[in-house]
Amino acid sequence: MRAVRLSGEKAFVLETLPDPTPRPNEIVVAVKACGVCGSDIHAYYGEHPLMKPPLVMGHEFSGLVHSVGDGVSEFAVGERVTVEPLLVCNECDRCKSGRYNACESLRVMGCHADGAYADFLAVPAEKVLRLPDSVSFEDGALIEPAAVAHHAARRANLKGGESILLFGAGPIGLFTLQMLKAYGAGAITCVDLSRYRLQLALSLGADGVVDARESELACLKHRRAEGKEFDLIVDCVGGKGKALDAALDIAAKGSRILAVGILEQGVCMQYLTWIAEHELELIGSFTYVREDFERTIQLLEKGSVRTQGIGSHRFKMEDAAKAFRFIESPDERFVKAILVNDAYTG
Ligand SMILES: [Zn+2]
Ligand SMILES: [Zn+2]
Repeated sequence: MRAVRLSGEKAFVLETLPDPTPRPNEIVVAVKACGVCGSDIHAYYGEHPLMKPPLVMGHEFSGLVHSVGDGVSEFAVGERVTVEPLLVCNECDRCKSGRYNACESLRVMGCHADGAYADFLAVPAEKVLRLPDSVSFEDGALIEPAAVAHHAARRANLKGGESILLFGAGPIGLFTLQMLKAYGAGAITCVDLSRYRLQLALSLGADGVVDARESELACLKHRRAEGKEFDLIVDCVGGKGKALDAALDIAAKGSRILAVGILEQGVCMQYLTWIAEHELELIGSFTYVREDFERTIQLLEKGSVRTQGIGSHRFKMEDAAKAFRFIESPDERFVKAILVNDAYTG
């Protein structure tokens, strides 16, 4: 089979490897589509703390069941599937309590182990989920980031009709917006640097938008004085923590802040002193569990969550190097790249 391996900073090699054979309780998936995640882009620049070359990336994918190992009876060859890419121990306290996304020895396909920038990938059968006929392979590759958003919406502990400020209208932000709406949020205002992404947020259900570059952001801080407060502020930016700093600055007393975006190592927040005296709740959200995948698939099938504009650019898997060069200086409409793979047709 072919696999695209990150071989160094901004360098890929197209390798030929033996086709995988499934071990007991494994399924070999023929990859049809795989999303390029923000973490893949960090790894490409050599800036990811865990994802280091040589590595076959890819943890957001869909495909066809190519072969099944001994003990696998729930899936048949040729079925359309997606995969929850968390590899967990099933033995630690967190795993036993069902919160295996906080497993003591969590590993992720395509991050700690080779992933789906390849023709085939062998995965534990318990991590495979069926795709409904109405969900395309490309949308199937968006289920993983949408499940991140679904988990975040559950962590938000919504009380219905709450007013929300959401930082970041990238793939995770746009899905989080829709998941919060699907679970009964009130008005949601989105903040981003890109006018195009803010338009996309409006088309996907945002009630208002704020350009993060403009003085509008400063105005948000004065909303408290006007009595127009946010019940929940969500950070889907992460990075150097600027959005989280702004969130703490804007947060009304007694409100909640939900941290979803991945923060760089060693980031410190400026306004920690406010947490106690404003009685804020700071909530973390990380990845998902199977239930998030299952519900995300249902919401996509029902059309309550849409992918329009999110999977914005497609490239062939073997052209991954070209895709990443494009991402280095993308056009305005870029939101997320999907690598499609037509090698296996069943
Ligand atoms: Zn990801
Ligand atoms: Zn565990």
